Amino acid sequence: MAKIIHYRNKCIGCNICFELQPELWRMSMKDGKATLLRSQEKRDTYIISVSECHLQQSRDVAKACPVNIIKVL
Ligand code: SF4
Repeated sequence: MAKIIHYRNKCIGCNICFELQPELWRMSMKDGKATLLRSQEKRDTYIISVSECHLQQSRDVAKACPVNIIKVL
């Protein structure tokens, strides 16, 4: 199973991840940054496992992030 890693503290709140993949992303009302739903935090990074059905879309989201802080491994 693939993983999505989000380096959240560098998020600029552009909204693109949420627009492209609302089933996995939300924008925080508190700090304006993106939140990766159901993720676990590890040293300021947020990680979830994704199934095959979300994989290509997740790669597209990672490519679209303007500050390159979403990784799909
Ligand atoms: S696309 Fe990147 S910079 Fe934009 S809100 Fe999502 S994580 Fe933040």
